[in-house]
Amino acid sequence: MLRSGAGRGGSQKQPTGAGLRQRTHTRGIAVAATIITNGIIRTDAFAEPVEALTVSRGRILAAGSRDEAEAVAGSGAQIHDLKGASVIPGLVESHVHPIFYGLTRNWADCRSPLNRDIADVQKTLRATLRNLTGNAWVRGWGYDDTLLFENRHPTRDDLDAVSTDVPVIVSHISGHFVVANTKAMEVAGVTEEMSDPAEGRLVRDGNGKLTGLMWELGAVNLIMDAAPKPRESELQDAAVHALSTAASRGMTSVHDLGIGLMGGAMELETWEHLADADRIPIRVIGYLRGDYATDLLDARPDLFTAGPRGNFDLVGAKYWADGSIQGLSAALTQPYSCAQESCGDLLFEFDHLVNLVKTIDAAGGQCAVHANGDRAIRTVVDAFAEVKKDGGRSDSRHRIEHLQMASANDIEDLIAAGGAASVFANHIYYWGDRHRDIFIGEERASRIEPLADAVSKGLHFGLHSDCPITPMDSLRTLWTAVTRETSSGVTLGPEQRLTPAQALHSLTADSAWLAGAEGTRGTLLPGMDADLAVLDRDILHSNSAELADVGVVGTMVGGEWVFTA
Ligand SMILES: [Zn+2]
Repeated sequence: MLRSGAGRGGSQKQPTGAGLRQRTHTRGIAVAATIITNGIIRTDAFAEPVEALTVSRGRILAAGSRDEAEAVAGSGAQIHDLKGASVIPGLVESHVHPIFYGLTRNWADCRSPLNRDIADVQKTLRATLRNLTGNAWVRGWGYDDTLLFENRHPTRDDLDAVSTDVPVIVSHISGHFVVANTKAMEVAGVTEEMSDPAEGRLVRDGNGKLTGLMWELGAVNLIMDAAPKPRESELQDAAVHALSTAASRGMTSVHDLGIGLMGGAMELETWEHLADADRIPIRVIGYLRGDYATDLLDARPDLFTAGPRGNFDLVGAKYWADGSIQGLSAALTQPYSCAQESCGDLLFEFDHLVNLVKTIDAAGGQCAVHANGDRAIRTVVDAFAEVKKDGGRSDSRHRIEHLQMASANDIEDLIAAGGAASVFANHIYYWGDRHRDIFIGEERASRIEPLADAVSKGLHFGLHSDCPITPMDSLRTLWTAVTRETSSGVTLGPEQRLTPAQALHSLTADSAWLAGAEGTRGTLLPGMDADLAVLDRDILHSNSAELADVGVVGTMVGGEWVFTA
């Protein structure tokens, strides 16, 4: 059963912040309540503003008039003067990769437009090579073949030109491909004689020779598993850096959609150790890489149901049903506009996917399955429905991640299957133009991320950045969902826009619901955790230019300020 609603409080361990205050209190020092007032305070996306909030012991004690707030606050209450700023429930980023994001600080940044062509990528990698120590690899990330002048992926030859002695790898912005030089392939044991791994492909040229491009995660992991692993202290620093960035943009929770993606199984220990040391400033909801999850369940049958450990809570497992549209690896029902022979590939057979979902479902966990293409989405919806029909949990809240090409019908069936979604709204800004002009054509591109359909059908859904794929900034994601503006300034599929209130609801209450936390987070009603963001303007009464540039004044988690500007 999903640990949802108010039931998650009570006997569960208190969030770390609240625990600290409790210890202070037992030493005999009464902890004063805080009254937050003199601004526009929204307890949820659709309610009229209230005059004041009372925060005490990590929770909201009152939300209403100033008199009501003072009446429950008791003596010695501190006043927090908003000076006209606005308060919203803390933003919940429902799909990011915090450790991956933090680690990219140490890698060669091969993104465009910084890198205009492959020569630029080589130059960037050479700069990293010069500063290399020990047995490290040259590691680049973020190249985008369709933004490079040559309009292709780099090859092993391109990377051999950087070094033939040191392993050199560069990963695609989607995270679904990596290019390796000859040395890296050698170390990883990838040979010309090898056949394709499950869930991936070793790309070959016209003569059948390996190009160095590892296609999809099965192939990518052959290389990644051989690369030197970061130490746990590096993973910890990366995680804390990412969460500090999130807090500075008003986020009070993030969902890590793929624990183990970069640091292997050690990433789970990293989160647990950070939680035990009280070093997690905001809440982290974890979804463990699927293969690790199934491996661990024997030893830890309560893997998903143990409850929060400090600010960290592992609730589910992550799988990938397809790749990305821009990589031509999303599974479509109709061919790509730019590659008439190709519909992309499903990474799982239907029956296999059903079995995986059943395993996680039976263990009380949530499955979060990446699906971009319409064929992948349909397959995952059918798998969720099959598991439910076959005795699965009725309120499973299994999730589809990205949901880029869902039809209205898919959304209806997903709801009927007890499922939910986190939608990659930032796709519209970063890839919308190329989706329309290159990959899938005007008609299909105009309804990527069908947000208005999701609202009208009643789907529970979050909005996400997939950081580091796009920047860690839920307020910017909100702007994208509201405007559907692409990077060239075109409005893509205006009928699928959300209102600011709908987008805020998705980024707060609905995203809390996604992880079964709607009884404690997502609104600022009495009894809820005091997780909130203070903004420099009222985002429900801002025009699109104002929405593009919202400043965060402060972020509170469990009654503690974790960020102040
Ligand atoms: Zn992701």
